[in-house]
Amino acid sequence: MSDLRLGDVIDDYCVKCRRLTNHAIVSLMNHEPAKVRCRTCYHEHDYRHEEAPPKKDPRKEALFKEVLSTIAPGAGEEEKQPEPKKAKARAKKIAN
Ligand SMILES: [Zn+2]
Repeated sequence: MSDLRLGDVIDDYCVKCRRLTNHAIVSLMNHEPAKVRCRTCYHEHDYRHEEAPPKKDPRKEALFKEVLSTIAPGAGEEEKQPEPKKAKARAKKIAN
């Protein structure tokens, strides 16, 4: 590995500038940049290894699915559906 130091300027993808810009290393981990700061807009972020982020954040998507499954679990859907119908039918009969 190259001998990187805090403050060294390296290329990385900046989400604010939406392009590769010069970044100063602000945090090192295992001799690799952990956090960098864009020299153009001064936005600080995790080092991305010069990669543009995917349009959808897989972590957010996974979290969203997890939240969805707790709100409406797939197994519970079949059970839930007939119930309101029965309840409505009963309500109509009572109303009539
Ligand atoms: Zn920037």
